[in-house]
Amino acid sequence: MADRELPIARLATTDDDGHRIWLYPADVKGFFRRRRTALQAILILVFLALPWLRIGGHQALLLDVPNRRFAIFGITFWAHDAPMLIFVAGGAAMTLAFVTAIWGRAWCGWACPQTVFIDSVFRRIENWIEGDAVTRRRLDEAPWSLPKFARKALKWSLFGSISLVLSHSFLAYFVGTAALEKMVASAPSDNPGSFLFMALFTGAVLFDFGWFREQFCTIVCPYGRFQSVLMDDQSVAVVYDARRGEPRRGTSAGGPQGDCVNCYRCVQVCPTGIDIRRGVQLECIACTACIDACDEVMRRLKKPEGLIRYGTAAALANPGSEKPKSLRRWIYLALLSACLGGLALTVHGRTTLALQLIRAPEAPYQELPGDTHEILNHYKMELRNQSFDSQTVEIRVPPAEAGRGVTIVVSNLAPSLGGGESERADLFIRVPRKLLTQGKGSIHLEFVARDEQSHSQAAESVTVKEVRLVGPYL
Ligand code: SF4
Ligand code: SF4
Repeated sequence: MADRELPIARLATTDDDGHRIWLYPADVKGFFRRRRTALQAILILVFLALPWLRIGGHQALLLDVPNRRFAIFGITFWAHDAPMLIFVAGGAAMTLAFVTAIWGRAWCGWACPQTVFIDSVFRRIENWIEGDAVTRRRLDEAPWSLPKFARKALKWSLFGSISLVLSHSFLAYFVGTAALEKMVASAPSDNPGSFLFMALFTGAVLFDFGWFREQFCTIVCPYGRFQSVLMDDQSVAVVYDARRGEPRRGTSAGGPQGDCVNCYRCVQVCPTGIDIRRGVQLECIACTACIDACDEVMRRLKKPEGLIRYGTAAALANPGSEKPKSLRRWIYLALLSACLGGLALTVHGRTTLALQLIRAPEAPYQELPGDTHEILNHYKMELRNQSFDSQTVEIRVPPAEAGRGVTIVVSNLAPSLGGGESERADLFIRVPRKLLTQGKGSIHLEFVARDEQSHSQAAESVTVKEVRLVGPYL
């Protein structure tokens, strides 16, 4: 068994000189594998379909950075909505911290695109074309021949085609599907920037998912490094029960023996090439392959499953004892709730038309001449169209206010506001003086934004605003 023992002083995927050791993870079947396959299929479907879905007339998820506009599940944002995006980004970061503090690297093993695409697409194609782990290793070690070349050419052609599909889907999130369709139909010279991005991104996907693989997780990904900060001994991880497993077979001559038969099956299936029996490690992406592999061995040996399982370091050290939950997860939860609360409040108060009314500083009011006893209030308005579509804007006096003698005049208001545009205009409100008590009073006005394309009642957004009036103190 000693020759199968992994090195202690270096990664299992590099030799003493730092050169890559190519891994050939064996296939595994089992409880977690089935569930991960189902979830990965759903996630891939969502990734491919989301840019083509429409919610509220817009792409379900659009991050149009060049034009500084964003659509997230029916809500449209512009660059000036940065505070809202801070809540979104903060919420995502806190979700990751909270989930990691409780469930460890569940993200890496179950939902990270790196794992999902390599596991469910690239390795499957490789298995289909080159065979299982042993056959793949033999093929790589064999000298070049026509059949080997044919297999490699077919594999890399398929990898390349899939990388193209993935990069196009990814770009659709940033330029929109309509623009993507146009780009695909036109010559590369018409969109050199996007073409270059697409070419580079396709190359990066091919390089990463096709060749770099676990090296990204173990060498590049910063999240793997964060985990040691975010996790503690109460975080759930994939763990080996050394109390039960040790001493493993072949290590205690004639003495008591644990349940581990030292078959190395858990190592053979590991996509990062580690031996989980050495404890939780930075390279472990919690993919659960070793759990399924070991459970299969235990079933064959008619021993209880779960020698490798989901568990916490604290429970392994003191089985049955319950430690109070660490403070950090409550802090992450509080910060996450604050971000979600802030986002919900901001989104809830959001209207198609954002407006600001500021009393005209030079002449906030005038007493109109004659015996009508009327006051004129002057407001400066700033109106901003927060949707992606052009809107016409109308300011209405509700019937109740009209009945009290309120009339308005609006000047300098543009006939329509383009998506994301803002305009300044003047609003003059004429009211009978009797509506003011000791120089103060208020009325309500309706600010109506109407979708220029549809003109339908349903496409109308009405914001009712209370406007405070001023006049002479009588
Ligand atoms: S698969 Fe289970 S029994 Fe085999 S070496 Fe790993 S822990 Fe031991
Ligand atoms: S140790 Fe187990 S859970 Fe961790 S990466 Fe390897 S196979 Fe996956």
